[in-house]
Amino acid sequence: MAAQIIDGKAIAAFVREDIKTQVPGLREKYGRVPCLCVIIVGENPASKVYVRNKVKATEEAGMESRLLALPESVSEEELLALIGKLNADDGVDGILVQLPLPKHIDEDKVIDAISVDKDVDGFHVLNVGSLQLGRHCIVPCTPKGIMCLLTSTGVPLNGCNAVVVGRSNIVGKPVAKLLLDANATVTVAHSRTADLGAVTRRADVLVVAVGRESLITADMVKPGAVVIDVGMNRNAEGKLCGDVDFEGVKEVAGWITPVPGGVGPMTIAMLLKNTAECFENRLGNCNDII
Ligand code: NDP
Repeated sequence: MAAQIIDGKAIAAFVREDIKTQVPGLREKYGRVPCLCVIIVGENPASKVYVRNKVKATEEAGMESRLLALPESVSEEELLALIGKLNADDGVDGILVQLPLPKHIDEDKVIDAISVDKDVDGFHVLNVGSLQLGRHCIVPCTPKGIMCLLTSTGVPLNGCNAVVVGRSNIVGKPVAKLLLDANATVTVAHSRTADLGAVTRRADVLVVAVGRESLITADMVKPGAVVIDVGMNRNAEGKLCGDVDFEGVKEVAGWITPVPGGVGPMTIAMLLKNTAECFENRLGNCNDII
C-alpha cells in the first residue's frame, strides 16, 4: 500500500491561519502587533525569493515586517551596527539575517550579535546551547516544523528508532536533539557513515537533510517508516526535488513528505510562530501562542 502523504502545505496553512486569528488579540493586549525585521545582503536570487516569501507570510498573518536590503559591499562593521540599532529598537521583536552572507562577513559574529530574545531563527549560540541543555529557547524553524509534521502523523516517537541523515547546525543536529527529547533512540548519519542503507533501514522515523537528489531509495527504507524529506535540490530539468526518491519510497514508507509541499512551507509557518513567541517573551507573557 502506498504511503500516506504528509501535507506540509495544508498543515502550514492551518498554523498560519491560527496565528493570524491570534494577532488582533495581541494588538488589543499590547497595543501593537509583532514585528519581524529581515536583513538581506547582496543579490543572491534564492535568498531574495526566500526573503520575499518570509516578508509576505508575515504580513499575511497581520504582523509587521521590515525588509532591510543591503548592498553586497556592506562592511561587517556596518551590518553589526545595524543589528545593534535593531536590538535597541523596542518596536522590533524578531531579527532574521538571511544566510549565506558574502565571504568578507563572519556569519557567526553576525548571528551572535542579534539579541538572543530577538533571534527568531534560533541560530544564536545561546539558543543553540539552551536547546542542547533542554532549557527554554527559540527552536530553529525547520527542525520545529519537522516535529510538527511528525506529530501530525500520530505515530509515536517514544521508543522509536529515528535516523537523521545530515548533521548541519541548522537542521540535522537540532532535529536530532528534538527527537531525543521526544524519547526516540536517535542515530545521526553523515557523509562518512559506512553503509548508509543498513543504518536507514533501521529507522521507524527517517529525516533526510543532505542536499542530494535521490540519495534515499526504496531499498534503504523500512516498510511503514515515516520519511521526512528536508532536501531542496534542482534536478536536471530544473524542477525542485528532495533527497528522497519520492516515487520509489512512497511504495515502501508508511508516511512521506513531498517536495515541494512538505517541510518547506512549515519552515515559514514556524518563523511566524517564533516571531510571535519572541514578541510574547519580550512583552512578558509567555505561552499564549506557543
Ligand atoms: P549542509 O550542506 O549544511 O549539510 C549536509 C549534511 O549532509 C552534512 O552533514 C553532510 O555530511 C551530509 N551528507 C552529505 N553527503 C552525504 C551522503 N552522501 N550521505 C550521507 N550524508 C551526507 O545542508 P543543510 O542541512 O543546510 O541542508 C540540507 C538540505 O536541506 C539542502 O538541500 C537544503 O537546501 C535543505 N534545506 C531545506 C530547508 C527547508 O525549509 N525545506 C531548510 C534548510 C535546508 P558531513 O557533515 O559529513 O559533511
